[in-house]
Amino acid sequence: MMERPDLKQALGRLLGAAGPEVGCEECFEQLDRYVELELDGQDADAAIPGLRAHLAGCPACREEHESLRALVGGEQAL
Ligand SMILES: [Zn+2]
Repeated sequence: MMERPDLKQALGRLLGAAGPEVGCEECFEQLDRYVELELDGQDADAAIPGLRAHLAGCPACREEHESLRALVGGEQAL
């Protein structure tokens, strides 16, 4: 069986993906940290590349991100 890395790259370009790909699974794994960095005023995009792009293109993860922000932000405000 031959691997087709070119095909994957071409597809990535087609979809306008920049930087490392982040899937939903990885997104969920990193989301806590991402939100903590964001609320801490740090550069979450630089710390976890590709996650913002995934959130932009994935309504399910975007929703999760928003509720996590509300949750963590609310805790910090107490
Ligand atoms: Zn997702």
